[in-house]
Amino acid sequence: MLVRLMYASRAEALDAELLSAILRKSREHNPPLGVTGVLCACFDSRIFVQVLEGGRTAVSALYNRIAQDPRHRDVVLLSYEEIGERTFSSWSMGQVNMGRLNPALLLKYSDKAVLDPYAMPGKASLALFAELAATASIGAQG
Ligand code: FAD
Repeated sequence: MLVRLMYASRAEALDAELLSAILRKSREHNPPLGVTGVLCACFDSRIFVQVLEGGRTAVSALYNRIAQDPRHRDVVLLSYEEIGERTFSSWSMGQVNMGRLNPALLLKYSDKAVLDPYAMPGKASLALFAELAATASIGAQG
């Protein structure tokens, strides 16, 4: 059984080094778990948004581990659903390239041209990320 989980969190401190350490761990651990997904790190607002897809037990265990990571707080579940197929199967952990985030795309799903997952419905955040995947705005490298 496949599930998709999306959450937002606030980084205690966020820089390129931390992001690349997280991506490195994700790309090491996630393939054997059968977990795929994407991570968006917004440096300005110090917000993370992550999507995890995979088996229910694997995604649940990984989410619980990530939620206890002291490098972020205010972990809020944005969306959780059983799925028939993955949207983010190409990435053990892809990185949303904020530099390529088109303000018009943000305005399509949000009242402001800034990414604020805490103020957006989970469905809208998920639709935004699915569109990013479809428009090649997700990179494989940290
Ligand atoms: P180690 O990397 O050796 O870490 C051991 C412990 O120390 C962990 O509890 C870790 O949280 C903590 N730790 C490590 N480095 C630091 C540091 N610099 N400062 C403070 N504490 C530290 N892991 C995945 O496997 N897959 C993912 O998709 C994934 N996504 C993540 C997304 C976010 C936003 C964050 C913040 C973390 C994510 N992680 C992910 C990391 C995850 O939370 C665990 O830290 C990691 O899986 C543990 O790896 P490890 O067992 O090799 O332990």
